[in-house]
Amino acid sequence: MKRALFLDRDGTLVEPRHYPSTPSDLVLQPGIGPLLRMFAAAGWELVVVTNQSGLARGYFTEEALERMHDRLREMLRVWGVELHAIYACPHHIEGIVPHLAVHCRCRKPQPGMLLEAAEDRGIDLSRSWMVGDILDDVEAGNRAGCRTVLVDLGTEGVPDRPERWPRLVARSTADALRQIAFAEELLPPQALPVPSRTSLWSSAVAARR
Ligand SMILES: [Mg+2]
Ligand SMILES: [Zn+2]
Repeated sequence: MKRALFLDRDGTLVEPRHYPSTPSDLVLQPGIGPLLRMFAAAGWELVVVTNQSGLARGYFTEEALERMHDRLREMLRVWGVELHAIYACPHHIEGIVPHLAVHCRCRKPQPGMLLEAAEDRGIDLSRSWMVGDILDDVEAGNRAGCRTVLVDLGTEGVPDRPERWPRLVARSTADALRQIAFAEELLPPQALPVPSRTSLWSSAVAARR
């Protein structure tokens, strides 16, 4: 069975923006191309799992989302990276588009998109990782049985429930990918940068060990 990197989109693969709705709203996070290529070359699946409640809210259409994802694939192709799959949850209970304004099983922190991808693509969840910038990503990954990394953009406080604790905390997406590569022995320890700041998170994680 294959292993996967499950990747959140907004804030993780691309810079955080408020409801990106056009291709030009997507700007890749720095330094991630070569690392993603290394994982793919080692046989890992690259699977995007993204909440897109802007669909339910009527901020943009399915076609606009497709165009954004074409753009995302194009930007990654420049780095020789081919995404294996993109799963998007279009739902939100407060939406205005009736068939999308429902409770669903795919919106993170629920694990539905990861479970569906595992089923579709023969992915071993217990040997896979979820990378995201909020604790809902972490919870989705944990509930799916994956290991998890929080990319600490400064928005998330220390969690109140065990299922929201990440295995690792990173200061950027590239740092998250390097830490996973180190844990999986795809990179030597020298490849990890020396920590240059102690955040709320790193001290909380250290205190918990
Ligand atoms: Mg995000
Ligand atoms: Zn959904």
